[in-house]
Amino acid sequence: MSLTRKTAAELGELIASREVSAEQVAQAHLDRIAEVDGKVTAFLHVDAERALAQARAVDERIAKGERLGPLAGVPIAHKDVFTTADMPTTAGSKILEGWRPPYDATVTRRLREAGLVILGKTNLDEFAMGSSTENSAYGPSHNPWDLTRIPGGSSGGSSAAVAAYEAPLSTGTDTGGSIRQPAAVTGIVGMKPTYGGSSRYGLIAFASSLDTPGPFARNVLDAALLQEAFSGHDQLDSTSIDAPVPPVVEAARQADVAGLRIGVVKEFAGDGYQPGVLARFNETVELLESLGAKVVEVSCPTFAYALPAYYLIAPSECSSNLARFDAMRYGLRVGDDGTRSAEEVMALTRAAGFGPEVKRRIMLGTYALSSGYYDAYYGQAQKVRTLISRDFEAAYHQVDVLISPTTPTTAFPIGERADDPMAMYLADLCTIPSNLAGNAAISVPCGLADEDGLPVGLQIMAPVLGDDRCYRVGAAVEKALNDRWGGPLLSQAPAL
Ligand code: GLN
Repeated sequence: MSLTRKTAAELGELIASREVSAEQVAQAHLDRIAEVDGKVTAFLHVDAERALAQARAVDERIAKGERLGPLAGVPIAHKDVFTTADMPTTAGSKILEGWRPPYDATVTRRLREAGLVILGKTNLDEFAMGSSTENSAYGPSHNPWDLTRIPGGSSGGSSAAVAAYEAPLSTGTDTGGSIRQPAAVTGIVGMKPTYGGSSRYGLIAFASSLDTPGPFARNVLDAALLQEAFSGHDQLDSTSIDAPVPPVVEAARQADVAGLRIGVVKEFAGDGYQPGVLARFNETVELLESLGAKVVEVSCPTFAYALPAYYLIAPSECSSNLARFDAMRYGLRVGDDGTRSAEEVMALTRAAGFGPEVKRRIMLGTYALSSGYYDAYYGQAQKVRTLISRDFEAAYHQVDVLISPTTPTTAFPIGERADDPMAMYLADLCTIPSNLAGNAAISVPCGLADEDGLPVGLQIMAPVLGDDRCYRVGAAVEKALNDRWGGPLLSQAPAL
């Protein structure tokens, strides 16, 4: 079997036992990128030489008898919103074109320390605002299942890279759904860890109270291995949780649901949900019961207000965070010809450097935070956020995890929602509540919708630091469904 079809865990073992070299593995993935990325456009930047050099360094350490972690020598695609001192970092924006960060993000540093080989940086919606990668200033990425469709967003380059076998692993960030939604629509696994469980240091900020780095992989165990590799307390992030990383790898290996109490969120069904998505979801509910879980229906009435609350809180935080792009410190500078004031240069640079969705969010957020409106908009949204956390708390008194479809629909065609922000925002209807509450949640494949033959995701939600529960249930579903399908869902994708 080709090296690009193997799981990250398998590759790590092959490299550690010196059956194959990390260099061969990196080369196989670079070849695959050269073969298919012209169609998929998952990457904004590939650095073959550096990747091969990193891989050779791992091979040398292994040859010397050093014992490295389980992912040493395994290639990874890194979302271009994490700073990398040796590669450009654009956040999908023209305003950062040509910028070289002076330092590595904590997630980047930990990937390197774990011996992962960074192949390059992946495409995303500008500053991670979007659900399709169509907001990238560098053009959209394409869904490997159907190149005319979106691979989700904002981490759509990362989901596409893994689904197209260009990398076994990738990183993402999830502020409102940007890991789980792309994972769902490309038929792979994506996990949003507990907020504060993975460091935001060196992650270009969108909405600081929500931004959460997390893993993409083609199976649950690989995702757990990656989460473990880059998670844990970081003194450089003031909201980092000073507690042990939940036992995610152990849970992924446990893979059973016997005796677990599972709640189906009643509100996440009905109008606006594609019949094929609901059909696969309902079958998965039956599957979980047959595996020994106790499934009950749970009502979380305030979840209906999550989307409007998010679209006040996230833009408010973004309007403040993006103020730092002032034409003086980073990347682009427009109109600085000696005749203009700093303010004029700033205005020209921001007008030219930010795309329409980013401008929309900055305007919305500035308005929501302005005096006289603050209480009615931002203040009110924060109260709703508290109510949503309470609904979760009440639910978790009754059940161990909550489940829902990850997204209301499968991957939509590129262009279909590009001019309709409301339709685009609805892609995150089911994912946003977990962000507002800071909870853990994962998406795992649960089948193909009948209407279009495209992947459907199952979302498994758990309380703060309950990440291991997401992996345990996710792995149980994966095991049962792979048995039924005779392999992972992704092996049913058409060849590229
Ligand atoms: N699609 C949502 C938004 O546009 C979520 C993005 C994200 O999680 N980064 O804000």
